Amino acid sequence: MRRTATQPTRVSRRAVLLVVFAICALGSRIATASDKNDSEMHVVLLGTGYPRPDADRAGPSTAVVLGEKLFVVDTGRGVMMRMTAAHLPAENLQAVFLTHLHSDHISGLPDLFTTTWIINRRAAPLELYGPRGTKDTGPSANLVAHSHGADILVHEACLPESFDVHDSPAVAARLKRYHSTPEQSGADAQEASVKLLVLTHLVPGNVAENPHNAFLQRARKTFRGKIIVGRDLMKF
Ligand SMILES: [Zn+2]
Repeated sequence: MRRTATQPTRVSRRAVLLVVFAICALGSRIATASDKNDSEMHVVLLGTGYPRPDADRAGPSTAVVLGEKLFVVDTGRGVMMRMTAAHLPAENLQAVFLTHLHSDHISGLPDLFTTTWIINRRAAPLELYGPRGTKDTGPSANLVAHSHGADILVHEACLPESFDVHDSPAVAARLKRYHSTPEQSGADAQEASVKLLVLTHLVPGNVAENPHNAFLQRARKTFRGKIIVGRDLMKF
């Protein structure tokens, strides 16, 4: 990322987890907040889609709200529109975390970057945390360790057979390697002993083609806790 005098950006090597992530992954950053309303923490799904444009699902993005402080994890297509729809004031934005640098997770970043500067009069540098480079993954022991005992685990879920429909065999094989099935997402949630599993980054997102119960039924094979298949603007 280029840094300029008027639009400074700070990129650290702090690694928030890839594709899959847990609220507790933000714990150390959030723990520094000092607002009196810090105990009021919730999550808003800003976008539950993936690269293929979908009328009902914005690109991957999740907001973590702590009192009046706003943190955004990933900045997919439509992130600013969804923040507005969720009544999340951009002025309260504290930091953006990128799980990885795939296009669907950063395509809304230019909009967020410039709009918060021009419209919301952001005067301070945008705090942007993410990994150096891109490294794809499936089930992650690191994720399980960091999310252990969390109230909510927000986790991607892909029906791998859907890649066979839209992609070439070679591309489909690659996509299957670094995305998690609902069963794998459930297994992570079970091993981490979280209270609630929220599935996002749904592939495919087309509900008519793949009803939500397909995700639910498959995740329930491996997780005994509560499961919610995410939709944009759901709040927890
Ligand atoms: Zn993605």
